[in-house]
Amino acid sequence: MAAEFGGRLLAAGVQLPGTTDGRVVLESVQLKWQDVPLAERFERVLGAPVLLINDVDAEAIAEAGMEESPSGYRLFIHLGGGVGAAVTLDGELAPGPRDRAGEIGHVQVVFGEAARACRCGQRGCLESAAALGAMLGEEFSDAMDASEIRALAAQADEEQLDEGARALARAVKLISALLDPIEVVIGGPATELGPRFLDRVREETEYPARGTAQVPVRYADPRASLAAGAAQAALTGALGVRWNPEQLRAASPANP
Ligand SMILES: [Zn+2]
Repeated sequence: MAAEFGGRLLAAGVQLPGTTDGRVVLESVQLKWQDVPLAERFERVLGAPVLLINDVDAEAIAEAGMEESPSGYRLFIHLGGGVGAAVTLDGELAPGPRDRAGEIGHVQVVFGEAARACRCGQRGCLESAAALGAMLGEEFSDAMDASEIRALAAQADEEQLDEGARALARAVKLISALLDPIEVVIGGPATELGPRFLDRVREETEYPARGTAQVPVRYADPRASLAAGAAQAALTGALGVRWNPEQLRAASPANP
C-alpha cells in the first residue's frame, strides 16, 4: 500500500473482529489477541495515520453513510457466526468510554427450557438463538458466499429461524425503547435469509409497548461495504472528512 500510494496516502482504516480503542486491539477472541498496539505498527510501515476499527462498527458507519445527511441514532446489528451491534449517532459511531458498546451477543434473552447452551458457557445468550449457526445449523460458516447461505436457509428448520427472530426481536425492542433509533438495520450474512426472516423480526417487534415508538427494521444496503466504512472512519479520524453516499459507494470494492 505504501509503495502504491506513497505520499498520497492520507490515512488507513484497519477493520478487525474484536474490541479496539482505535490504537490498540483490546481483545479479539477470534484472533486470540489482547492489548496489541497494532495501529502503531501499521503506521511505521505506511507512514500515515492508522485507525483500528471493529468490523461491525465499520459496517454501521458505511450503512449510515449511505444517507446524504444521517441524523439520529441508528442501531446496526450484525448477524453471522456471531452477533454484534453498533450504534451510530448522526452517522458517527457512538461508542462507550470503554470501547465495548455493541457487545450484545452474550446477553441472555432466552429463558427456561428454551434456553440453549452457548459457546461462551452460559445458556440462552442472544447468540445461542440468533447467530446463523444456531438458526441454519452447524454447517454455516462466515466464509460462505451469498448463494451458499441462501441454499442453507432454503432447507433450514423454520422453527429455528422463528426462534432466532424472537430472540433478536427481544433485544431490538429493548434497545429501541432506550435509544428511540430512526431505524434498526440487520447486516452481515443474515441479509441472505430473505424476506420471511425479516418479516418475523418485524412481527415480533411490532407489538405495542406503552410509551415506545414503532421502529422500522430492515436489511442492510448491500452497497455499503465494510471496507468503505473502515476507510471512512479513518478519514474522519485523521482529517474530519466525510464522504457523500456516492463517494462511499465508489470506495467500496465491487460486489463479487
Ligand atoms: Zn453466550
